[in-house]
Amino acid sequence: MKDYNDKIQTVFQLQKQHQHIVKQTSTAVRIEKLQKLKAAILRETPAIIEALQVDFAKPSFEAITTEVMTVISEIDLFIENLEKWMEPVEVPSRNKGETAKIVYEPKGQCLIFSAWNFPIMLLFYPLIPAIGAGNVCILKPSEMAPASSRIAVKIVRELFDESEVAIFEGGVEVANALLDLPFNHILFTGSTQVGKVVMQAAAKHLASVTLELGGKCPVIIDEHVDLEKIVPRIAFGKFANAGQICLAPDHVYIKEEQLEEFVRYVQEFIQRSYFENGELNQADLAKIVNDRNASRLQGLLDDAVIRGANIRCGGIVDGRTFYPTVLTDVQNDAKIMQEEIFGPIMPVLTYTDLNDVIQQINARPKPLALYVFSDNTDVVDTVLSRTTSGGVTVNDTMLHMSEPNLPFGGVNESGIGRYTGIFGFKEFSHERGVLYKAPVGTNPMESFAHAPYKGKFEKLVKKIK
Ligand code: NAD
Repeated sequence: MKDYNDKIQTVFQLQKQHQHIVKQTSTAVRIEKLQKLKAAILRETPAIIEALQVDFAKPSFEAITTEVMTVISEIDLFIENLEKWMEPVEVPSRNKGETAKIVYEPKGQCLIFSAWNFPIMLLFYPLIPAIGAGNVCILKPSEMAPASSRIAVKIVRELFDESEVAIFEGGVEVANALLDLPFNHILFTGSTQVGKVVMQAAAKHLASVTLELGGKCPVIIDEHVDLEKIVPRIAFGKFANAGQICLAPDHVYIKEEQLEEFVRYVQEFIQRSYFENGELNQADLAKIVNDRNASRLQGLLDDAVIRGANIRCGGIVDGRTFYPTVLTDVQNDAKIMQEEIFGPIMPVLTYTDLNDVIQQINARPKPLALYVFSDNTDVVDTVLSRTTSGGVTVNDTMLHMSEPNLPFGGVNESGIGRYTGIFGFKEFSHERGVLYKAPVGTNPMESFAHAPYKGKFEKLVKKIK
């Protein structure tokens, strides 16, 4: 570890020197780097898919859509818009003859930590705005997806000089060694618990942070919707990546009288999507990332059942294969209602009064996302105006993240700061206010502000309205 620590220190110092050169790079140079990153990701796509298979059997289709295509489309968005975003923005100034501008300059030295559940996407997605804004950067992939991490290392080391973008693999020890360094900005994706550790470390150097965390994302279903049509949108969100998605619907609220119909449609969806001839189709369902998480989920399930929950389908755990599971009659004090589930278990709760649902949501930490299904704008508006969350998709799940003109991020316990598109460019930029003063002599009142103040105070008081 000592040698590794020394290497981290050396690279940090190298980047400290080099950041000033990177800061002054043109749009064309930054775009070229992004183009190279795009080409490398496309070239390595087969290896990426294989690595994700090794790490937690991510289905190839999900690997392409959520890990490769998301990164490529974000790169394309930056290539198309970077020139415009880098342009200083002229703003009205208060005094005649003066000009005021907001200049986007890089934050400087950035650190990016990623989580394991989208090990490629969560590492490269934030690197795009970091490069676009002209920063130098150190990446730390998650140690829990080692095969994907190795591909990331290969891509980064082939493309970039370490004075510009470097990557260090490792667990908590390496994370702590990096967090000791005076970075200018830290983007962390992971749990709320570790997010607090990161923010404390950042405070030592007053580094700014983007914390992309988790939480319990609720789904509210209004009674006047076509359940058969909306169930695939909710169930897909819950069971894709075996529920290991920060934006996955955590639990569902449905009107008491619609519970059975809803459960039936979810069961049908699960059969259609994840079973073939009565057998689980393992190719289309990711595995739980490791034994520790599988037994955590088993623990949540057992605890819910002990407290009276009914398993309506699934509930089978075979090593790291966790069958899509639906629970009803879940008590509020069950552990599954206290922590982020992050697995393929869907508690379905019932309500009679929307106010009770809103109260329950507001009693929990602010979620990363909230989903409301309704054709009634009054219901949607009521839910939106009386709750908060990082983001919202109305009548679907998770999709607000893929809308490039919307910021993506949490709020308080589910995160701080935002990225994607221009929001990412700004997150990795310092918005520097620059005022160009008019030449001396342009403003006859200029010396009025300077000492001596004798007689001026009274004049000023008269002027104040
Ligand atoms: P995690 O917090 O355990 O780990 C994230 C990163 O922090 C890893 O790189 C890890 O090495 C490092 N780390 C772990 N413990 C540490 C410590 N004590 N000190 C310093 N660094 C430490 O999270 P995870 O298990 O990889 O990911 C799951 C969590 O991430 C879930 O809560 C999920 O909701 C959240 N998540 C959020 C987003 C988002 O965009 N908001 C995306 C994916 C995952």
